[in-house]
Amino acid sequence: MKIHHRESKVKKRQVVIIGGGPAGRTIVHMLHTSDQNVSATLIKDERINANRCAVPYGIPDEKPLEKFQIPNALVTDYGAALVIDRVARIDTINKSVYTAAGDRYPYDDLVLSTGSRPVIPPIPGVEGQNISAVRSITDLSLLRQLASTGKRAVVVGGGYIGIEVAVVLKQMGLDVTVVEMLPTILMATTEPEFVGRVADELVEKGVHLLTNEKVVEFVHPSDDQVVVKLGSGASLDADFVVLSVGVAPNTEQAGIKTSRLGIGVDKHMRTDAKDVYACGDCAGKASLVTGQPTRGEFGTNAVFMAKTVAHNILGKKKTFPGVINANVTAVYEWSLGSAGLTEQMARDAGIDVVTGYSEVLSKYPMMNQVDTIRTKLVFNRDNRKIVGGSVLRKGNCSAHNVDFISFAIQMGATMDDLMDYQYATHPELAAKPSDNIYVFATKNALTK
Ligand SMILES: Cc1cc2nc3c(=O)[nH]c(=O)nc-3n(C[C@H](O)[C@H](O)[C@H](O)COP(=O)(O)OP(=O)(O)OC[C@H]3O[C@@H](n4cnc5c(N)ncnc54)[C@H](O)[C@@H]3O)c2cc1C
Repeated sequence: MKIHHRESKVKKRQVVIIGGGPAGRTIVHMLHTSDQNVSATLIKDERINANRCAVPYGIPDEKPLEKFQIPNALVTDYGAALVIDRVARIDTINKSVYTAAGDRYPYDDLVLSTGSRPVIPPIPGVEGQNISAVRSITDLSLLRQLASTGKRAVVVGGGYIGIEVAVVLKQMGLDVTVVEMLPTILMATTEPEFVGRVADELVEKGVHLLTNEKVVEFVHPSDDQVVVKLGSGASLDADFVVLSVGVAPNTEQAGIKTSRLGIGVDKHMRTDAKDVYACGDCAGKASLVTGQPTRGEFGTNAVFMAKTVAHNILGKKKTFPGVINANVTAVYEWSLGSAGLTEQMARDAGIDVVTGYSEVLSKYPMMNQVDTIRTKLVFNRDNRKIVGGSVLRKGNCSAHNVDFISFAIQMGATMDDLMDYQYATHPELAAKPSDNIYVFATKNALTK
């Protein structure tokens, strides 16, 4: 006797996902764990994706390149069909995507998780040899080769990725110069109070920092030399150049509304085309604090947005509250990060700001290796809510502090909530019972 499974007669809902980064993979994983009759196909143009966050740390060839790759099994082991091809056209009327190879994939739901690409500034000579971006496995392979033979590197861009690359190259023994056109490095994510300490550390370790300085031309006197000409008239002789000046969202999906900040989405992450969603670096983002459009190209944002998309595909009608942009980075033995708005961002958004600052010991004073944790919190004076915060400390614990600040913002915590917040203590693991980084920073804000 033949048993007919009920689902065999029911047509599966076809979900097509474009892009195999954290956003695309999150959708695959969530659809896989659902009990619904869904069939997922993920189309991506990179044969192997890089673990992008780890790319700077893969430049020394101490570890095999494979360690920095995302295995395709993270798609295929989770029930999705994997297609390595480039989506060349989307027909939102007939609900199909067409790849460069000429294949057609019909969909019931389509997810655009096409990420972003490095900005290549239109500087004369930028297309020449020995200039690399920092994003893909191809970039990482090139950077490995350049750093193993070169002695002098110029990093263009002093954001967190450029600084991570500079530290790694310096640790490999290269002569490293960072060129940043803004007045300070790390300006997009770090409070000015903290930048000085980090910049001093870089200089003490021998990294040359040139701020307020613009690259105007790359000259290539030979295949393995680049002369970097600067706006001030000075020039730098380099064996190779690393470009790290930001990213642009991949938004070339014809007919779908986009802005400079990405593919337009509503709170359900729906685009203006029927049954088409967007998430991750390619999608437009709103700040959870202000509700206004904002940048936010972070791996965690990609995952949070993708979860919302998956819930909606599965009929759960979930909304995404906006990004907090929690971020952390490491500079030698320091770790630093922020969540929400910096003081300047809050002022620019028209918020009546009050800030609080604290310096608290990381352990009880009699213990070994006691350091100072520096914390700045930003509050809205009108409703007393926390809108942002930053931490700088030695060791790798800033991520935990930033996570706390992020959660406080997400929960709408006020100054009063933070003053009453109940925490743990231990001589080796935390400050003494009376001291706490958030309570002290809030207390400081209350005096203003
Ligand atoms: C060097 C570096 C360090 C970083 N460090 C951190 C960090 O420490 N913390 C953090 O939170 N974030 C970090 N990020 C940011 C994070 O990596 C990105 O935010 C994240 O990768 C975005 O995920 P995504 O899935 O949206 O896009 P992506 O990871 O970019 O994936 C999108 C994929 O879609 C593919 N694609 C595009 N168009 C098409 C098409 N037409 N057809 C088929 N495929 C297509 C792309 O090739 C790509 O593979 C870092 C980024 C870089 C580059």
